[in-house]
Amino acid sequence: ANSITAYDTIAAISTPPGEGGISIVRLSGDEAIQIAQRVFKGKDLAKVASHTINYGHIIDPTNQDVVDEVMVSVMRAPKTYTREDVIEINCHGGIVDTNRILQLLLSHGARMAEPGEFTKRAFLNGRIDLTQAESVMDLIRAKTDKAMQVAVDQLDGSLSHLIKHLRQDIFSVLGQEEVNIDYPEYEMDEVTGKMMLEKATEVRDHLQQLMKTANQGKILREGLATAIIGRPNVGKSSLLNYLLHEDKAIVTDVAGTTRDTLEEYVNVRGVPLKLVDTAGIHHTMDKVEKIGVERSRKALSQADLVLLVLDASAPLQSDDRELLKATKDKKRIILLNKTDLPAQIRPANLEAVVTDDTLIIPVSILKTDGLDRLEAAIAKLFFDEGIENSQSNVLVTNARQYGLLAQAKTALDDVITGLQNDVPLDLVQIDMTTAWEKMGEVVGENAPDELITQLFSQFCLGK
Ligand code: GDP
Ligand code: ZN
Repeated sequence: ANSITAYDTIAAISTPPGEGGISIVRLSGDEAIQIAQRVFKGKDLAKVASHTINYGHIIDPTNQDVVDEVMVSVMRAPKTYTREDVIEINCHGGIVDTNRILQLLLSHGARMAEPGEFTKRAFLNGRIDLTQAESVMDLIRAKTDKAMQVAVDQLDGSLSHLIKHLRQDIFSVLGQEEVNIDYPEYEMDEVTGKMMLEKATEVRDHLQQLMKTANQGKILREGLATAIIGRPNVGKSSLLNYLLHEDKAIVTDVAGTTRDTLEEYVNVRGVPLKLVDTAGIHHTMDKVEKIGVERSRKALSQADLVLLVLDASAPLQSDDRELLKATKDKKRIILLNKTDLPAQIRPANLEAVVTDDTLIIPVSILKTDGLDRLEAAIAKLFFDEGIENSQSNVLVTNARQYGLLAQAKTALDDVITGLQNDVPLDLVQIDMTTAWEKMGEVVGENAPDELITQLFSQFCLGK
């Protein structure tokens, strides 16, 4: 699958849909330059140097109509995103113009790219491995700077690098066996067994560390589903509005994300919160909120984190107790709101009801008092040290990677128990080889075709 010449030339609009300053139409393939030339008036693109930007016009060759004034980037293989010849046409933006340019390219020899096909070619042509391809997708969807940084690092190959290193370690002992074949069997077995145990343990511990990062990786990628609940009038909408304050709200209209579900994201110290059922909290003119508690229950079921708001200026009510009970097995933070008013409930009063170590934070959302503590608590809850200070950006970011690492780890566990129980070396070696193979799959070695197709089809068009 590594031949570059077999591919036809694909085209797509690579910038997000909608009105923008500039749009980019991208072409990749053997005929990218010729096809662009057919609809371009300006320099001869076949003769310009690689990696140059060229001014000119896109014209419709059938009637010589000028479609747009453009800048055309010419990038010749192999130093390109796909390792094929790539053309990028920077045009002025309007949807109509951009589509017309794409249509012209399609009627002059290019084929419409499938979602993710540019990145798929980069993978098939050996420029990036699977974890890097996955990070391209994470980049598109990144919701906070931290999430973006992890994706960028992964694109740079930090996870692949670590995995390859660990595989090398395994390989070195598997190879050792071959070398030692000339020695008397009992000596060989003893030496190799010892070494294998050492390496297997070392690699297994590394994998374990890596697997621990998966939760953070998932949260960074998908957002932490968070429900704000409480009975009517305790301050839920006020909290929501505080969180949605401009510098915290995350614009979700990113290329490749569909907006069929209304979700709101906020960035709390690098942790993307995906607020669930905000529609139930947004007030319009509703005076009575009959559905408060029922609705809270529903939001609860979808949440990874619950922010339970209580009104400290009123005595605890049966609805409050009910919600305290309903959330007791959830990751939750209790906000004791309205501390600017005379108190009817103090944190100490809650201790009878909240017997676990749930954080209780007194706040006045109205006076934005105590909300720093809330933010710090959220960051700490999910990233022990606080994600902003986390040194390592090597994270397992998706279920595919996690699943394979888990299988590799199990195989290594088997190696270790096998060696400890004097199982014959050639049997132990089978498990060792399995670990090596599973880790290879993480970076895309011997990945089955269906997996590749499925993976890249999740990308948006033009990537
Ligand atoms: P919800 O029904 O739970 O969404 O509560 P709202 O956010 O709509 O707030 C109900 C009322 O409580 C509003 O009049 C808010 O201005 C008020 N409120 C919210 N937080 C505070 C606070 O910290 N102190 C005081 N005094 N009033 C607050
Ligand atoms: Zn309300």
